Amino acid sequence: MTKIVDHIQNAKGKTLFSIEILPPMKGHGVQSLFNEIEPLMEFDPKFINVTYHREEFQYKKRENGLLEKISIKKRPGTVGICAALMNKFHVDTVPHIICGGFTKEETENALIDLQFLGIDNVLALRGDAIKSENRFAPTDGGHSYATELIEQINNMNKGKYLSSEIENAYPTDFCIGVAGYPEKHFEAPNFQTDLKYLKQKVEMGAEYIVTQMFFDNNKYFDFVARCRDAGINIPIIPGLKSLKTARQLTILPSIFHIDLPDDLVAAVEDCKNKEDIKKVGVEWAIQQSKELKERGAPCIHYYSMGKSDDVVQIAKEIF
Ligand code: FAD
Repeated sequence: MTKIVDHIQNAKGKTLFSIEILPPMKGHGVQSLFNEIEPLMEFDPKFINVTYHREEFQYKKRENGLLEKISIKKRPGTVGICAALMNKFHVDTVPHIICGGFTKEETENALIDLQFLGIDNVLALRGDAIKSENRFAPTDGGHSYATELIEQINNMNKGKYLSSEIENAYPTDFCIGVAGYPEKHFEAPNFQTDLKYLKQKVEMGAEYIVTQMFFDNNKYFDFVARCRDAGINIPIIPGLKSLKTARQLTILPSIFHIDLPDDLVAAVEDCKNKEDIKKVGVEWAIQQSKELKERGAPCIHYYSMGKSDDVVQIAKEIF
């Protein structure tokens, strides 16, 4: 496997193409995901990220009237999908590893599985609060912030496992990516504080950043400039998504804490049907991609959410 930073270095300034997918919903097979990814392989994605989805809790009424709390993982299989994609398409995969729902021991075991599978790239994240919580709460014996998770991965890269009884441990060799927020992480009190913690992630061992989606390239260019001013000098990969429905005008800002530009909102509001909206979304993403490429983005990462038709249209114009 090639590390993401090596892919970027080997490209010698050419903008790379990458995508992000979700594992299938529990009960669904892998074939439909393969079918979606197949048409994208022509554009030579250098890596495919696979998101991680933590458990959700539901309450089920028992026969005696009492409520039973049940934990459900609706999209398990992140590691399995990574291995399956590597086998099928001979492409590098990047599993997302999160703090939420994991003890340090479970994280260590998950990383050992990845090492055995030959997966040397990870995106290290904190994760969000589960629906029943107002704020993110770490699992007992787990990590509170991505920085702590990065420290654990980096320790394993140095052959330092949790148990001091393991001597001469085999060092892992993970290339660690992290998340960055051109429009600020919603919990951070201000931009400077968010950047301070982003810099800490780099000091702990992060080698590249993937951004939250944005629809206004100036947000990305400003973010890169602020990072450079703050001494963050690793590659910053922009993340893009093409808008597909009118509902996303309200859903995306509420879930991802981002702004949508006036022109994009107006263009979507003028559309007569769903197909027109998709066209507007794809055209917007093409224009964003062209500018990002012209201005030297190391890679453009598309949040495909497992559907490829829009990304294929964009990739045809850009890669
Ligand atoms: P952190 O870097 O830990 O930051 C979280 C907040 O805490 C920020 O406000 C930061 O400023 C602050 N902070 C950081 N360190 C400290 C500290 N030491 N003390 C005090 N404050 C601190 N979520 C998933 O569940 N699964 C996924 O697969 C997934 N993939 C993602 C991919 C990308 C590219 C992005 C951008 C996000 C993804 N997310 C995913 C969402 C992510 O988990 C959330 O945005 C989460 O709220 C923050 O994660 P983080 O790793 O950026 O957290």
